Amino acid sequence: MTVKNNLSRRQFVGGVAAAIGYAGFGPGVDLFAQSRGAGQAARAKMPLSEAVAEYEAAAKLANNENPFGPPDSVIKAMTGAFKYANRYGYPDGGIVDAIAEHHGVKPENVILGAGSSEILTMTDTTFLQGGKKVVGVEPTYNTVYQYATNSKADAIKLPLLKDYQQDIPLMIHTVKANYRDVGFVYLCNPNNPTAIVIPNREVKQLLDSIPEDVPVLIDEAYHHFVDDPSYETAVPYVKEGRQVIVARTFSKIVGLAGMRLGYAVAPKTVIDRMRPFAMSYGINAIVKWGGAEALRDTAAQEKVRTYTINMRKKVTAELQAHGYETLPTQTNFFMVHIGREVVPVIEEFKKKKVLVGRPFPPMTQHLRVSIGTEDEMARFTAAFKEIFPAKGKASTAADRG
Ligand code: PLP
Repeated sequence: MTVKNNLSRRQFVGGVAAAIGYAGFGPGVDLFAQSRGAGQAARAKMPLSEAVAEYEAAAKLANNENPFGPPDSVIKAMTGAFKYANRYGYPDGGIVDAIAEHHGVKPENVILGAGSSEILTMTDTTFLQGGKKVVGVEPTYNTVYQYATNSKADAIKLPLLKDYQQDIPLMIHTVKANYRDVGFVYLCNPNNPTAIVIPNREVKQLLDSIPEDVPVLIDEAYHHFVDDPSYETAVPYVKEGRQVIVARTFSKIVGLAGMRLGYAVAPKTVIDRMRPFAMSYGINAIVKWGGAEALRDTAAQEKVRTYTINMRKKVTAELQAHGYETLPTQTNFFMVHIGREVVPVIEEFKKKKVLVGRPFPPMTQHLRVSIGTEDEMARFTAAFKEIFPAKGKASTAADRG
């Protein structure tokens, strides 16, 4: 499938480039704002043009991004909002109302973040005061635990079950046993990096079983890619008035990772506690207009969803036929069991200009791969087959899941 953005994308990018003025940047600039690890340091020493060329040449399957970028409708709305670049007070596209309407809640139930990352930080800062702990699984989206450490708080990390599901009974037990110390519970659903969902009945079991004043942050960054009927969004629990914070992002399905917009839906009392910790002026005028338009353009979202589901099926089937077990995936990425340590393998892929996910301890023999364009996925599977010899068809977790 091709998702094309044609002229409008070039016009928008051109506009931004002209506005910030490339000439001001020299070698050493942190061009790759979100890239992690040694590669970033090495690139920082390169001349900018070389670093950009290296980035452009790579198949970018490391960060679970949307390979197509935002749809034309969103780019148009953002380009139109560029005229507010010089303002503090400006019409914001009605973004909060649009989100509230989308979920059938009141605007007072919504708070914006510069990406859902800001929602995760805000939750940490709000609920881990006084040395409280966050309870969640490992591996999961580790940023929540990193923020906790930054705030001098701690995490209680629970192992996954043998089939990589989150162990909800153990979580319930842990929360009850540590009730006084628990600041909040973190559920990443579907989980990153395993790509596996927690069925709705288990989310409910958790909410029904733990003390009702313990907040539960449910991170639904990959919500739009799920086709498993046992999964449901947790927004209805917010409407019931439970202490649930649902985090969503425009980075994945809409392709706005570089523009930073996310939000939380939660009871007003919870939002009121979080709001003092929101960055003032953290979200720009342009992305607010883009986000509001993105909620209207459901057809564009459906295209990305269908492409992603088909592609993840195709690539995981190919790896299974090659003899490698893949985990059942409900997201725009998947995990493949490679049977050896992942760190040197990541480097081998990099030499072939294919960027794949970082290590996720304790699953150090699983490789996380994002769904990219058709070309990127073809380059990934070709590289995979060069690095890993064919084995008999794997009996896969996907078959079981
Ligand atoms: N939550 C999960 C589970 C993620 O995987 C990510 C990013 O990859 C985020 C949150 C943060 O995304 P953003 O800050 O771009 O909204």
